[in-house]
Amino acid sequence: MKKITARSFICILLALVLLAGTCMFVVRFIRDGEQWASYPANRHLYTNGQLSSGRVLDANGDVLAAYSGGWQYSDDDSVRLGTIHAVGDPDGKIGTGALTEFASKLTGYNVFTGSGSSISNGRDLHLTLDSELCAKAYDALDGHDGVVGIYNYKTGKIICMVSAPAYDPENPDSSSKKSGAYINKFISSKFTPGSTFKLITTTAALEKKSDISSFRFKCTGETKIGGYRVTCPEAHGTVDLEEALNKSCNCAFGTLAVDLGAGVMKGYSEMTGLTSSYSINGINTEKSTFDFSSDGEEGLAWSGIGQGKDLVNPCAMLVFCGAIANGGRAAEPQIIDHTSFIDGISTSIYIQHNTDELINPDTASTLTKYMKADVEENYGQDNFPGLNICAKSGTAQVNTSKASNGWFVGFLNDSDHPLAFVCLVEQGGAGAKSAGRVVNTVLQKAIDLGY
Ligand SMILES: [Zn+2]
Repeated sequence: MKKITARSFICILLALVLLAGTCMFVVRFIRDGEQWASYPANRHLYTNGQLSSGRVLDANGDVLAAYSGGWQYSDDDSVRLGTIHAVGDPDGKIGTGALTEFASKLTGYNVFTGSGSSISNGRDLHLTLDSELCAKAYDALDGHDGVVGIYNYKTGKIICMVSAPAYDPENPDSSSKKSGAYINKFISSKFTPGSTFKLITTTAALEKKSDISSFRFKCTGETKIGGYRVTCPEAHGTVDLEEALNKSCNCAFGTLAVDLGAGVMKGYSEMTGLTSSYSINGINTEKSTFDFSSDGEEGLAWSGIGQGKDLVNPCAMLVFCGAIANGGRAAEPQIIDHTSFIDGISTSIYIQHNTDELINPDTASTLTKYMKADVEENYGQDNFPGLNICAKSGTAQVNTSKASNGWFVGFLNDSDHPLAFVCLVEQGGAGAKSAGRVVNTVLQKAIDLGY
């Protein structure tokens, strides 16, 4: 009798283990089946290691890449080069491209019929990008390396995402030799932000210095901080916070950063979302990095100015500008509009999500006023005809033997055209001129196209 009881117990135990294993498999099959099916060893979906189904289209339905015995790209050089980092290459060298990151969406896999049935003959992946705008941005960089990103801060849709140098699938040998051609710098890189970072130091000062309305700083062109010289290109005279930002006064911002302290500066680099990684439909962006505390007051001063060890991801800066424009929170960026059967009905839609509060709404309103004044008093409204633009430039020195990197970041304060932008022109010199010119060219085109 004892033997039967023991055997029954073992049988029940084994049955329970089998049941648990089956449940675990079913859960994982539903959750991960899409990834298993799009594994490159799957010969139904991959030919010679290359994905062999589906099409990638832009927001207007223009085909950017389609599989037809091999991957065919746009005939237009600028469209091809301006969208390659979003579309990707069939060999997966551009790791964040759609052909790699969204392979499972291109195969038409579904949990009921897998990927081999007649209704699974590939899918159309519709990106949020406008290929004409991306081409315009690529051309506007005029041979410089750099980044152009524009997105709608209310919907999160990225309409322009360009990284240069670009890899050209039509001329693989020559373009693959360019350093960084496979990297989407908008997503996967971080750069010295230069004076664009003064937006974050200004945010911290507005919120943490109780006497900020009476803040005055006399700039003589240089000041001593922690025994070291911090310099401005010229003597700016006596400035309040708004004038310090508009004149981009290094001496004032270095002093402010030291007054605020390393802990507060670190807190604001986090709160403003710069050190976050955003998930663009599952593609994780590079986190910005800072070191406010290890190089004493001199290091802290240069960090508050946007030099030193500051490294900022362009996408994170774009979203922060969107949050200033949108009263504290912005839509999280997205690159997929929807997927559909080939030339057919939609199979999925993507829902917009908002960020946490990246900036207090009152601070955002003050910063908007400052950034508008910056355009009117420094950059010249005439250089941005018809645009209600709020901006901050940056000129980041990264190598003394080369020209500086030019930045221009900001947004349109316009509910009909709720666009935020980030532009980096490597070795372009002064940001307001180099990157500002690119931003105007691309924004004018965006408005023409109805964004
Ligand atoms: Zn100054």
